[in-house]
Amino acid sequence: MEASSSEDMIIWFEEVAKNAGKVQMEILKKILEINHGVEYLEKWFGDIDVHKMDAEALQSLYTSMVPLASHADLEPYIQRIADGETSPLLTKQPITTLSLRLLFRDGLHIAPGQLKEDKSMFPSPPIAPRPLYKCSSWLQHTDQGIFLCPSFSLDLSFSDEFEFDEYILRVYPTKEGGKILEFIYGSKQFKTKGGLSAGTATTHYFASQEFKLKQQQTKSFTCSPEQVITSGDYKQSTYCHFLLGLFYSPDVEFITSTFAYCIVQALTLFEEYWIDLCNDLSQGTLSPRITLPGIRRSVLDLIKPNTHLATWVRAKCEELEGSDWYGLIPKLWPNCKYVYSIMTGSMQPYMEKLKHYAGDHLPLVSADYGSTESWIGVNMDPSCAPQNVTFTVVPAFSYFEFIPLHRQHHKPCDAVVAGGGGDDYLEDDPVPLSKVKIGQQYEIVLTTFTGLYRYRLGDVVEVSGFYKGTPKLNFLCRRKLILTVNIDKNTEQDLQLAVQKGSQPLIKSRAELVDFTSHANIVNQPGHYVVYWEIKGVVNEDVLDQCCKEMDAAFVDHGYVVSRKTNSIGPLELCIVERGTFKKIMEYFIGNGATMSQFKTPRCTTNQVLLKILNLYTIKRFRSTAYQ
Ligand code: AMP
Repeated sequence: MEASSSEDMIIWFEEVAKNAGKVQMEILKKILEINHGVEYLEKWFGDIDVHKMDAEALQSLYTSMVPLASHADLEPYIQRIADGETSPLLTKQPITTLSLRLLFRDGLHIAPGQLKEDKSMFPSPPIAPRPLYKCSSWLQHTDQGIFLCPSFSLDLSFSDEFEFDEYILRVYPTKEGGKILEFIYGSKQFKTKGGLSAGTATTHYFASQEFKLKQQQTKSFTCSPEQVITSGDYKQSTYCHFLLGLFYSPDVEFITSTFAYCIVQALTLFEEYWIDLCNDLSQGTLSPRITLPGIRRSVLDLIKPNTHLATWVRAKCEELEGSDWYGLIPKLWPNCKYVYSIMTGSMQPYMEKLKHYAGDHLPLVSADYGSTESWIGVNMDPSCAPQNVTFTVVPAFSYFEFIPLHRQHHKPCDAVVAGGGGDDYLEDDPVPLSKVKIGQQYEIVLTTFTGLYRYRLGDVVEVSGFYKGTPKLNFLCRRKLILTVNIDKNTEQDLQLAVQKGSQPLIKSRAELVDFTSHANIVNQPGHYVVYWEIKGVVNEDVLDQCCKEMDAAFVDHGYVVSRKTNSIGPLELCIVERGTFKKIMEYFIGNGATMSQFKTPRCTTNQVLLKILNLYTIKRFRSTAYQ
């Protein structure tokens, strides 16, 4: 079924949602037909002719013969592609370009040029700042580090481009020809050993025809030219995003970025930039902060002196400064209809700050759920508060399986740990999309057009309901266990909840938590958790003492509680770091080739450089008195 306009897309989606189970079987058949004979599949499938098989029989055969895989299983194939091998390894279509992207979802880092044999890689499409789903092949390097993404075009029988803007437009109509203030960032490019040109997935996307086409189709145009987006220097890009965003202020219809973190980070920089910005607006100049000639030329070509606008912005900023920048967005962009970004999962800790900048009335619209590996689900209810949002799986994106997970909260210490997560989940056999149950938690498994076969994504979701025949998911967390000393097992979500509870006393002191991360210190016995906080505001030591104690008590994992009571895990340590420390961490990653558009603060780290930065800038330490 073809879908040409956004309206058609909704009709198309209704149809595929209704027949989700059947669509899934057809998608799998299509993927296996397109990639029939590639080396990876041949290893498991031999010479079975998939073309002759019926979709249901093929589904059973596929799931019984092809094993679940992790990035480590696919990495050798992708390295061969990066090294220049042209035979069909994972995908049948020849690879034309490679995209590189740095990921920090689990807190590790690899710099460009460090493509090594011991790092894993896998394929997928990139996250777009607004929903755009393009079936091109993207191979990536490690789920902690570099991603290599070969792209080529696929001739699919259904539309290879899905756009769900219609859901947002219905609720928040925007003016045709309006502007979008997008905090988006590309990064540097390089050549692989095999001579393929590689750049970040987002860099390719922002420089692509799709990105331009998308603006023409939606008749909404990003404020910044390509040179600003792809400069590779996030501070210079951010300054120019603001300058142009203010220059076009009356026309800005919405503000967006891939992850909410980027918007918060940018608005924090605004507090530093606004005086220079007002001068530039007034005189049509560009601050000497901007040194890159490409950006300078492209911005100076667009702006003109506007003293009236500059005076207006200055007056607003002076007012805002006195109210700690509360309601900054609607004050400076009075026609902005909403803020759009990923606000769930690891972005939740930034929501308070984003709400502060958005003020009381500006809607915050939670973006869809996807990953570099595949897009997964859409937020069909843009008016839903971000904390309640669910993602409706689009059964045509990829072939999805779901591994049922059962958390072992109250099992004895020697409970059997199953599965690939290294955590305390017990796993059942994967089930297809049509067999998931409401209330059950699952890890998502993907088979994609881009050469991933039964690939474990590592995200934990809960089924909250169904839309016609397709599940609606709550995103819970990354599966990877992040904090453990011995028998304790705490996930990213557990940490997030504990930090949330522990930071409540800050409210009374009119202070706020800017960012946090953690580390399981096992160097000295007994081992203990170290949680690093960056705080804005002045807080008395007795309040921080209380925060530390409450955070320690808020880890409810049975293993942790037992170990704390018996002192086989020592008291939690709260380290307060200097203001700006997390910015330094972000800059460290970005300086090593990461893209700001996809940066996420690692919530738990063993990275020595990171720990060095954190410890160097720690100004106060507290040890918990819980369990005494
Ligand atoms: P990336 O690491 O850039 O490929 O980002 C993909 C990951 O970000 C996913 O696997 C999820 O863990 C997370 N993610 C993406 N979209 C959402 C969302 N809407 N809500 C929560 N987490 C998300």
